[in-house]
Amino acid sequence: SPRWSLAGMSALVTGGTRGIGYAVVEELAELGAHVHTCSRNEVELNQRLRDWSAKGFIVTGSVCDASSRTQRQHLLDKVSSIFNGKLNILINNVGTNIRKPTTEYTAEEYSMLMSTNLESSYHLCQLAHPLLKASGVGSIVFISSVAGLVHVKSGSIYGATKGAMNQLARNLACEWAKDNIRVNSVAPWYIKTSLVEHLLNDEQFLDRVVSRTPIKRPGEANEVSSMVAFLCLPAASYITGQTVAVDGGFTVNGFP
Ligand code: NDP
Repeated sequence: SPRWSLAGMSALVTGGTRGIGYAVVEELAELGAHVHTCSRNEVELNQRLRDWSAKGFIVTGSVCDASSRTQRQHLLDKVSSIFNGKLNILINNVGTNIRKPTTEYTAEEYSMLMSTNLESSYHLCQLAHPLLKASGVGSIVFISSVAGLVHVKSGSIYGATKGAMNQLARNLACEWAKDNIRVNSVAPWYIKTSLVEHLLNDEQFLDRVVSRTPIKRPGEANEVSSMVAFLCLPAASYITGQTVAVDGGFTVNGFP
C-alpha cells in the first residue's frame, strides 16, 4: 500500500557510509526512495555506492564535510540538480563526540562539536527548505541521542547539541507545517557502530550499559533505521515535532 512505501520519493541522508546513516540509506532505498548521501572519505563512499548499486538500490553520493558551510551549500546544489529542485526527505545523521568532563573542553572542541552536530543540521534544514516545500510533502528527521533527554556520561557539549536538535524539531514542526513538512527527532541509546565501537569493546563499559538497559543489550543500526523510515512514510502523516527514543527502555528505567 502507498501508506507503507516511499516509491518515487527523494531523500538526502548525511553520513551514510557507516553506522546508523548506512542503515538509514538502505532502509529508505528498500522502501523505494531514491537516496543521496555524503561522507568525507571518497574511497569508502565509492565502495558503498558500488555495493548499493549491486543490490539494486538507487543511491548517489557526494564527498562533503557536513561541518563546512560552503561544502553544505555545494551538497544542496548537487541534490537540487539530481532531484530537479525537489526533496521529500532530509535525514540529519552526521554527528560526532569528544567525551570528557566539562572543565576540560577547549574552545576548539566546543566549536567543532557545535558545528558538526548542531549547526550543520540547522543549516541543512535552511538549505533544504525550498526543496522540501517544492516536493509537496516533506519530512525531516534528526538523529539525536538519549544524551539530549537525560544526563549520560558522554559529555555536556554532545548533550547540549542533541537537546537543541530535539527542540529544533519542535520549532520547525510548527513553523513548517504550513509547507506540509513534518519534523521529528530520533534519540538512540548505545548502538553498535564505529562511533562507539571502542566503548562497547571494553567489557566493563558494556556491562554498565547493559545493566542500565531493560532490553539487555546495545541496539543495532537497523533498529534505528526502521523508526527513521517509519517517520518518513505517509503512514506517519499526523506525527510531527516528536522525539522518539530508540533505547531498549533505557530512558524509562528509573530504579533498576
Ligand atoms: P559513525 O561514526 O559510525 O558513522 C558516521 C557516519 O557519518 C560515517 O558515514 C561518517 O563518514 C559520516 N560523517 C562523520 N562526520 C562527518 C562529517 N563531518 N561530514 C560528513 N560525513 C561525516 O556514527 P553513528 O552511526 O554511530 O552515528 C550517527 C549519528 O547517530 C550521530 O549523530 C550520533 O551522534 C548518533 N548517535 C549514535 C549513537 C551510537 O551509540 N552509535 C547513539 C546515539 C546517537 P566519514 O567519517 O568518512 O565522513
